[in-house]
Amino acid sequence: MRLVLLGAPGSGKGTQAKILKQEFNIPHISTGDLLRAAVAAKTELGLAAKVVMDKGQLVSDEIVLGMLKERLAQDDAAAGFILDGFPRNLVQADMLDTLLNEINMPAEHAILIAVDPEEVVGRIAKRALEEGRADDTETVVRDRIKIYENQTAPVVEHYKQHEILSEVLGQGSVDQVQHRILSVLRF
Ligand code: AMP
Repeated sequence: MRLVLLGAPGSGKGTQAKILKQEFNIPHISTGDLLRAAVAAKTELGLAAKVVMDKGQLVSDEIVLGMLKERLAQDDAAAGFILDGFPRNLVQADMLDTLLNEINMPAEHAILIAVDPEEVVGRIAKRALEEGRADDTETVVRDRIKIYENQTAPVVEHYKQHEILSEVLGQGSVDQVQHRILSVLRF
């Protein structure tokens, strides 16, 4: 199973990906998590990325693609993957197509978890209390949503054109959303 999960910040992508990872026994690859690990490890890349991430902006395409390429080369990804947080713009969508074609592992499904932007702000406020992420403050969240709408939303169209896009409603309980995703994948 090679799956790309799409959705606004706070749409529940990460939560759903963690459940799907257990269900299909394939890695959950989150570029946000990879970047946060580099920040925590205080690598040169991590220190540079932190400044950009704290403002809610996008880290450079080349840096994120490089990290992703390394991660996809690990053994566990041979069985498939759930991609969360990549691609974030059309350039990355093209880069990803090229990379996955090169390794003979094209994406099979792209699933958009559709949510109402106002609900997203509320959900992220809750996550800010639980996880203390520096980019979960209300001003940064609003900027991240703007970036999503301007740069990431067009990626949905990219996958529509590739005829692998499905859309599920992100409202309701975690279980309800999971069932919607599974019914798409098991169709
Ligand atoms: P996320 O955990 O997916 O919400 O990502 C947190 C932050 O990491 C984003 O706001 C960006 O600053 C950065 N980031 C994650 N994925 C990407 C990506 N594919 N391209 C550029 N920046 C990214």
